[in-house]
Amino acid sequence: MPVPTTIRLASPLTPDSIVDGDGLRTVVWTQGCLLRCPGCHNPRTHDLHGGFEVPLALLKIELRQFKLQRGITFSGGEPFLQVEACAELARYVKSRNWDVWSYSGFTYEQLSADEKFLPLLREVDVLVDGPFILAERDLTLPFRGSRNQRILKLSELRK
Ligand code: SF4
Repeated sequence: MPVPTTIRLASPLTPDSIVDGDGLRTVVWTQGCLLRCPGCHNPRTHDLHGGFEVPLALLKIELRQFKLQRGITFSGGEPFLQVEACAELARYVKSRNWDVWSYSGFTYEQLSADEKFLPLLREVDVLVDGPFILAERDLTLPFRGSRNQRILKLSELRK
């Protein structure tokens, strides 16, 4: 599949986050999610046509300006709905020795069973997977909102 030249975001990049994965990270807020989890913390990211479109080339320039970042985190929204654009950004930051975390409302099993998700899944070092389930909400959990969600260290598992 050809690499897209743009990505649809819900918000501008957020550098220097310490709550979206290990270390200092830049968050990419992807726009669009079809899961509609009750109690979703970010419902304005659901509309597939909401947010704004931005050239990947511009984001790469912006990313180069952020210093001391350990990595990038895809959040949203559902990053895997823009799999090729996110994979392109993931490859770019990895070429600069950043690591890649991604949230997804899909489970690892769902993502790994569907070829269309693999270009991004292959680049992700740590996946926080599964939908937000209100009945399992737990504010004490690091980096996730409900107990069903898992922090999967994929790059370690691949070794
Ligand atoms: S997967 Fe995430 S963004 Fe999508 S509805 Fe669920 S909590 Fe919201």
